[in-house]
Amino acid sequence: MKTLSCREAGFDCDYVVKGETEEEIFKNGAQHAMKDHGMKEEDITPEFKEKLRGLIKTA
Ligand SMILES: [Zn+2]
Repeated sequence: MKTLSCREAGFDCDYVVKGETEEEIFKNGAQHAMKDHGMKEEDITPEFKEKLRGLIKTA
């Protein structure tokens, strides 16, 4: 199980994105960011994903 804390990604939010793989983290994280933070698909850039990749924890 991999997790990514929304707060560590820079949002004032206690949501934790969970997934079995990095792909799932990005998919679930993108859904959450778009639904709850008003981000758009084009806001999720390769640079942003690269930053997030470094914050993913494996439990
Ligand atoms: Zn959030």
